[in-house]
Amino acid sequence: MSAIRAIRAVRGMNDILPDVIGAWHHVERNARDLLAAYGYEEIRPPMVERTELFRRSIGEVTDIVEKEMYTFDDRNSESLTLRPECTASVVRAAVEHGLLRTPGRRMWAMGPMFRYERPQKGRYRQFHQIDVEIFGVAAPSAEAELIVLTRRLWRALGINGLTLELNSLGSPDIQARYRARLVDHFSAHSSALDADSQRRIRTNPLRILDSKNPAMQGLIEEAPRIVEELDADARAHFDELLAMLDEAGVPYRLNHRLVRGLDYYTGTVFEWTTDALGAQGAVCGGGRYDNLVAEIGGAATPAIGFAIGLERLVALLEVQSVELPVVAPHAYLASAGTRAAILAHAVAERLRDAVPDLRLVVDAGSGSFKAKLKRADRCGARIALLLGEEEARVGQMAVKDLRSREPQSVVAIDELAGLVARSMGAG
Ligand code: ATP
Ligand code: MG
Repeated sequence: MSAIRAIRAVRGMNDILPDVIGAWHHVERNARDLLAAYGYEEIRPPMVERTELFRRSIGEVTDIVEKEMYTFDDRNSESLTLRPECTASVVRAAVEHGLLRTPGRRMWAMGPMFRYERPQKGRYRQFHQIDVEIFGVAAPSAEAELIVLTRRLWRALGINGLTLELNSLGSPDIQARYRARLVDHFSAHSSALDADSQRRIRTNPLRILDSKNPAMQGLIEEAPRIVEELDADARAHFDELLAMLDEAGVPYRLNHRLVRGLDYYTGTVFEWTTDALGAQGAVCGGGRYDNLVAEIGGAATPAIGFAIGLERLVALLEVQSVELPVVAPHAYLASAGTRAAILAHAVAERLRDAVPDLRLVVDAGSGSFKAKLKRADRCGARIALLLGEEEARVGQMAVKDLRSREPQSVVAIDELAGLVARSMGAG
């Protein structure tokens, strides 16, 4: 008896198993097609960046930088970090490679992100995002495009019931004025604040608006609202966006408490939320970050983007019982006996050459034809192709339709391609 302890995955980092991969493919395929159709180009930055990049972009006093980053020194004592989000990397790459010399550049990236958070439903330490960015467009048409694009994605995926929440944070000056008013308000009631929020009065008062603590909701409701601070330009920008959304028939909810957890936002912020997933209801979040490109060392370039949380989107497909496209094999080829086994792959390859788009699985197990037929049936194939010693000798194959009660027939191997192609057309 072995007493070796099995090694398990790291807490908060999930294996995405074959039984759910269809949902991931559904999301990824639709997103890829849609983004291409709207003129977005894919970019794949590395998963590890210099720590400095995130400190500078996300901000020193944010939750992410203060306590959620996977940061380590490499063997050369350089401080590196597993990316907690992707916008900073996309901006860094775009600046580094001069991609922003063409204005109006649209880009997207997809992959794992890493945050040391408390794992719970919808919140993991490795999770996946699709990240979408537009560079060089200051007008609200960029916001509107991102929003109608996401709405089309939800529709394509078969998801419904998401709510669009919107707010405008205004320029850094506006945020500074607003911050001062918030500090006054919350300081005047500091005994009613929890410890976290008392600390945030000094570090990041906007984040107090995010608090879910029921005891503080009254105080937060009474807090000044950032819309009251917006100047004429910021107000006009936001109003124009709302007019575009009205025109395009996109409903939204103005949420003056929506501040988002990163420092780099400079205008519109938005989230798509659901109440079907419990506490972790934000499926997609983003906003305008007109100063980030310059802060990372590029030429001043207005920009806006969002990130979709794929785990939450996949969970929503499950909760809403969205029917996923089935990609079962068309045919399953099984052989019995040495001579037939030697022939099997050659026959299968000829079939794959002859029949475009054929999904054909060659049985790899042992056992009787009966056991193999069972495997063929279980994988969802429409027909089974059976090659025994006798068939192999005379160049024939038995064909069984697994979805009807028809008795099996025997065909010459040379005629197999036509038969298989016809069965693929027969739904
Ligand atoms: P939350 O408020 O849920 O913490 P966030 O504002 O930190 O989200 P963003 O940084 O805006 O999230 O990331 C965009 C999206 O990525 C979120 O709306 C969510 O769907 C997803 N996401 C963020 N953090 C996690 C996580 N730890 N696990 C799974 N998904 C996540
Ligand atoms: Mg978060």
